Parts: sequence; structure tokens; C-alpha cells
Amino acid sequence: MKFGGTSVGDVAAFERVIHAVSTQIEKRPVVIVSAMTGVTDALLGAFDIARKGDFGDACVTLEPHFERHSEVSNYFIANGTPNAFDDELEFARGELSDLLMRVSRRSLPLALLKDAIVSYGEQLSSRVLTEVLREKGIAARQVDARRLIVTDDEYGAAQPIWDETEELVKLELEPLLAANEVPVMGGFIAANRGGETTTLGRGGSDYSAALVAAALRANELQIWTDVTGVMTCDPRICVDARTIPVLSYEEAAELAYFGAKVLHPKTIKPAVDHAIPVRVCNTFEPEQRGTMVLASSGEAPNKIKSIAHKKNITILRITSARKLGSYGFMSALFQVFERFRTVIDVISTSEVSVALTLDNADALDTIVAEVERLGTVEVESGYCVVCVVGDGLRESTGLASSVFSTIQDTNISLISHGASRVNLTFVVKEGVAADVIKRLHKEFF
Ligand code: ADP
Ligand code: ASP
Ligand code: MG
Repeated sequence: MKFGGTSVGDVAAFERVIHAVSTQIEKRPVVIVSAMTGVTDALLGAFDIARKGDFGDACVTLEPHFERHSEVSNYFIANGTPNAFDDELEFARGELSDLLMRVSRRSLPLALLKDAIVSYGEQLSSRVLTEVLREKGIAARQVDARRLIVTDDEYGAAQPIWDETEELVKLELEPLLAANEVPVMGGFIAANRGGETTTLGRGGSDYSAALVAAALRANELQIWTDVTGVMTCDPRICVDARTIPVLSYEEAAELAYFGAKVLHPKTIKPAVDHAIPVRVCNTFEPEQRGTMVLASSGEAPNKIKSIAHKKNITILRITSARKLGSYGFMSALFQVFERFRTVIDVISTSEVSVALTLDNADALDTIVAEVERLGTVEVESGYCVVCVVGDGLRESTGLASSVFSTIQDTNISLISHGASRVNLTFVVKEGVAADVIKRLHKEFF
């Protein structure tokens, strides 16, 4: 059972988590928890302030968040009983202050310090949740995720090392489960082989949960969040978005990748590999079934299931006479992106040009300088990728025509279709994206 930040935002949210865990206690759950809402952002904010040298200010910005943790623990843990969380919070406050001081003095590599700092969100949420569950009579036991999930050294977006992780998860958690204890661990955080704290990338708690579920060959992976499952569209854009009862892994992976934030893009993989069903459910409506993600949706193909989108997209157009009738051009181009560890999302080519999209523009200037050796480069920012997903879309007739005729007065900057069986992807200006999505949603749902 993985509970996202919105499921552990305040006292009322903790009540809902207690309810969800206690009603499934006989299924022997493992609980994975994200940082309380806003805490990861606050820790990253404090890191930035400290980096600019304002160490004191950085610490001050965290105080309201410490206070939120205390409020929860004081609410559930009766006055007069020893509250182990208070001591834990005092330690965390001291350690964070020390780490932020190191940031301002640059006394250790910043990437390492950043992950160490941001990890306190999940360290604290898992601790407070453990104490609260215990207070409610559940035999909860906090487990440090950093002792279980082993990753490479890519701070901020570390890759788990599967064999080692699988072994450690089994070794640590199976005895607890056998003793009817409920392990509670923070998502998102891990450690490299040297024991330094790493993180799995934003939204990474889903990934932690999938790794643990896969290692234990769980019967089910439950992702508890603030919406009822994966919906036909981001409910923040279309208020009439509906829950999709069943999705195939392939559909879910495309949706997750192209912006349906409800599932982390990598979540799916460990679960797929071990054929573990994933359920996405709502802590606010626990009786609703939510969405089941299964190996195959078992439904008739040619049906649009959902519309995902991703904003803040940059388009790069490279034109070169060298590409004409030659091989090796694409390889040279891709090597640039490999060198700067930048992922290409959508790509489309003609005889003399290539257009591609990036959502991470961190290394943009350097990439453009390198790519200019291959041809002329145009850079356009402020775009949105829209991705229409459904099993069997590639084989269906008339789909592209109905999508594009619905939005026929909109300029489409790039189209990709046919690479996967399940999606049709195109790029529009960010300013028109919400309107485009609403119109498509109205037409197809
Ligand atoms: P958590 O804190 O539980 O991990 P997230 O904020 O990461 O929650 O993901 C849940 C959010 O994902 C929802 O509140 C919703 O706004 C957004 N979202 C985007 N696309 C979809 C979609 N297709 N279906 C459901 N939710 C979506
Ligand atoms: N707390 C982390 C984040 O905000 C991980 C997560 O919530 O999944 O990105
Ligand atoms: Mg999330």
C-alpha cells in the first residue's frame, strides 16, 4: 500500500490512512509513504536558499513543516505518553541544519547534499505514520528504505540495482511479515552501494512501492492517492473526467510517461515483470474500486481510453543537407543527447530534417551548440505534448482523422503515431493545450 503526499497532508488524511491500513490488515500489507504534501518542495526550496548562502533563512522556511508533523503526532499520541516522534524531530532539525550549513559552505558535493536533505521528507513521514499506527494498536515497524533499495550514484534520479534490492527487501521484510508486523517505509529514498542517500526522481514513491511489491511477489500493489484511479483525463483540466476501470500495462506506461502524474512513469516496470496487478485508489473514497492495471485490459481494441499531456516542452528542429540519403546522421545526433543524459520524448523526421521534443531543457544551450555542428538548429519553447492512449489505436481506421478534425482550427507542431500500438501523440502551443484537451475529452468521452 503506497500513500502519496496528498494522503498524508494533515490529521484528517492520517485518519484515512489508518482506516485503509486497518481494514486490510489481514492481507499483511507493507506500507510505503511519501513525504507530507509540500514537504519535498519545501526541502528543495531550503536547499536553494542555502546554496545562495542564506543558511539561517533556509532553516527558518522549514519550521512550519516541522510544525505540521508535530501537529499530527500530538493529535494522535495522547498527552502524557512518551512521544518518540518528538525526539526524532529534534534530531532531524539538527541534522538538517547541519546539512544546510554544509550547502552554504560547499563543504560536500551539492548533489549528494541535496538528496540527503530532501530525504528527510520521507524519513519524517514514515516515522510519524509508524508512531500513529502503533498508537492505534497496529504492529507497525519503521524500516529505513535506504537499507533496502540499492541504487547507482545518479543523485536525484538514481537507478535501482534490482538483484541487490530484491535480496535485501526479502531479507528485511519477510521476517516482519511472518511475525504479523506492518513494515512502514518512506518511498522515493534509497542509498548507493557506499551507503550515501540517493533519491529516485520526483514522484518516485510509486517506484519504491513497485520495487518492494515485485521483490515480495505481492498479490497486489495499491497506489493510494487523491483521485479515484487513472482517469480519462487530468481531472484538474476536465472536471467531468471519469475513472478508467481497467487499463493494460502498456496503456498505463504510455499515460504515465506522457504526463498522467497519477502514476510515476517507472512504476509499471517492476510490476509488469512480475505480473503483479496494480490498483490505483482514492483515500477519500476507499470503497470505490479505482483503476486496475493488468497485463492486458481484455477489452475490445480501437477505443480511446485516456488523454494525457505534458507541459513545458521544447522543440528542436535540425535541418541538414548531410542527412539527405546518408546514414550515420541520426546516430551522430542521438550521441549528443546521450552525452548530456537528455531524454527525447517525441520525434519526427523528413529527408533533410528532424524535429524532436525535450522536457528537460537543463543542458539545452550546450546541446544546441553541439548539434549545430550537424546542421542548422531552431529552438522553440512553450509547447505541450498531448497523448491520446488506447489499446490497438495503431490498427484502428479513422482515429487520426477524428482526433484532428475535432481540433481542426489548431496548429499542430509535430505528430507521432505508429511507434507504439497504443498511442497517438502530437504537440501544440501551451496556450491552447487546455482547450484542445477539453474538446477532445468532450468528443471521445
Ligand atoms: P500522490 O501525492 O498521491 O503521488 P500525485 O499528485 O503524484 O499524487 O498524482 C495525483 C494527481 O495526478 C491527481 O491529483 C491529478 O491531478 C493528476 N493526474 C494527471 N493526470 C491524471 C489522470 N489521467 N488520472 C488521474 N489523475 C491524474
Ligand atoms: N516526495 C517525493 C516527491 O514529492 C516523492 C513522491 O511523492 O512520490 O516527488
Ligand atoms: Mg505521485
